[in-house]
Amino acid sequence: MIRSRFRWKTARDWLWPFACGLAAAGAWLWWRGLPEHSAVLFAAFIAAVLAVFAGHRAWQQHQIDAEMPTPPDPLPEVAREMFERLPDPLLLLDETGRAVFANAAMRAAVGADYRRKPLSVLLREPSIQQAVETVGPGEAPVTIEFSIPVPIERHFQAYVSRSAQAPLTFVLLHDLTAIKRTERMRADFVANASHELRTPLAAVSGFIDTLRGHARDDEQAREQFLGIMSVEAQRMRRLIEDLLSLTRIELNEHVPPSARVDLEPVVTSAAAALAPLAKSENISLQISAEPGLPPVLGDRDELTQLFQNLMHNAIKYGRSGGHVWVVLAPKDGMVSVAVRDDGEGIPREAIPRLTERFYRVDVKRSREKGGTGLGLAIVKHIVNRHNGRLQIESEAGAGSTFTVLLPALSKADAAVTEVL
Ligand code: ADP
Repeated sequence: MIRSRFRWKTARDWLWPFACGLAAAGAWLWWRGLPEHSAVLFAAFIAAVLAVFAGHRAWQQHQIDAEMPTPPDPLPEVAREMFERLPDPLLLLDETGRAVFANAAMRAAVGADYRRKPLSVLLREPSIQQAVETVGPGEAPVTIEFSIPVPIERHFQAYVSRSAQAPLTFVLLHDLTAIKRTERMRADFVANASHELRTPLAAVSGFIDTLRGHARDDEQAREQFLGIMSVEAQRMRRLIEDLLSLTRIELNEHVPPSARVDLEPVVTSAAAALAPLAKSENISLQISAEPGLPPVLGDRDELTQLFQNLMHNAIKYGRSGGHVWVVLAPKDGMVSVAVRDDGEGIPREAIPRLTERFYRVDVKRSREKGGTGLGLAIVKHIVNRHNGRLQIESEAGAGSTFTVLLPALSKADAAVTEVL
């Protein structure tokens, strides 16, 4: 099995340079306008030289591999089975530094054809190679942190240790990507939140100084500045409220809600709170619900906030004098609530980022509309807590539809929650 693989590999190593050399030499000669038979001869000569060179190298490698006897299996069956089940990637190397065992998690990273390959071929991280060379039998494991920048940035911790009883070294990898990402998100979040608060705070402080200074006796300026200060103060209040909501929802995200909730009255009361805003923008807000809609398991306050955020956005980014439609319908064992507007829409590339904290398609426009950049992040967390799904369909200039799908309570479940 191994022998036939090497033979094929040798042939492959010959064929590629041969074909490339032939093509390159032929192209070059054709370009130079040489007679046909000289071109063919010359091309064949170049290709033969390349093929001999590459083939010789492959043959040498084949000799080295063939001479090396297959090592006896160093692991008892029970150890092999247990290592196989480890969630973290594990690699065992013999005393020559070649792989003798890789568990399923490691095979997923380095490929199934790992046997007898040197470490440097399997994990291209020089610090691990160095640790394997320096760690002594029975010594404490050497710990190394390293990152792989492409295709997706990933971070790992590697433990390298050598057995005191057998000529074996193990390399155990621990994936730190999720932890690092969370750390970075937290740092970004604190930086963003303080930046968002600092801007309105600076504006308010500036106007206070102006009012105390040269605008002290200017009645018109005072009215104007007080108006701006009030807008900025409201913005800070909204931001703090949204930050607190987000934190509260995140803290509860792992606790599934337990109340039986009918969505139609929730949507209607959320819409009622937004009616004055819709009126001021001259937007008509229409709600339609299919009769006999099943209830869901939910948290009424959170669901009210969810639909309020979606309808608020539909009004904010909708068309002045336009429409917002909210449609409730059952769909494949779920209840679907679609909030559609005929406003400015969202560019396709922005859609996957909308639920990130502080992400806005147009920061200036969001600020003018009193946005905090947290509304859809709150929506996403509420939907997650309710084990639901959020779908966003939009095209720039053609309006947007935000659809929330929540698992419907079956009749039997609904009866049980009623009794409880
Ligand atoms: P904001 O407070 O800025 O409205 P959100 O998290 O609610 O923050 O929304 C994030 C961004 O998504 C908004 O700034 C806006 O660019 C875009 N957006 C949300 N809803 C809509 C919509 N219905 N139409 C167009 N753009 C929208």
